[in-house]
Amino acid sequence: MTPRDTSADIDVDLVLDFLNTVDVEAGTDLLSDPAGRRAWLAARGLADSDSAADVRTALRAAVGDPAASRVALSAQVTVSLEPEGPRLVADDVTGAVLAAASRLTVLGDWDRVKICPADDCRWAFFDRSRNHSRTWCSMRVCGNREKARAWRERARANS
Ligand SMILES: [Zn+2]
Repeated sequence: MTPRDTSADIDVDLVLDFLNTVDVEAGTDLLSDPAGRRAWLAARGLADSDSAADVRTALRAAVGDPAASRVALSAQVTVSLEPEGPRLVADDVTGAVLAAASRLTVLGDWDRVKICPADDCRWAFFDRSRNHSRTWCSMRVCGNREKARAWRERARANS
């Protein structure tokens, strides 16, 4: 259940899907696989961009992935004034993703985009909890795994 209306799911989905084109658990990276990359872009109607991998790294760093390094970068986004109101328009994947991230920021929802801290997971997710307190991608999987690990360590320390 969502505590309030959050950002448009389309923006959340695009940002998360993009961040999760690298899957640490499966050891796959769609952006470095030409066929996978083409299919991913085609499914979203986006043009490719040379800076896609850099933007992904920077965005993952910006939302807390310790394995990614922070770099400053920019992309071409146009503000188009249409009958419904102003709209950010981008014609490639980096522009589209950064425009979506900017809309989340404007709505105060950027800090809800998080990276699961489990070393073998690092899955990007959107924290819909009321007080933005969610840590794990899934309490059922990573949260429980972490609790079990902490319990084993305590048990070992006490024996
Ligand atoms: Zn996880």
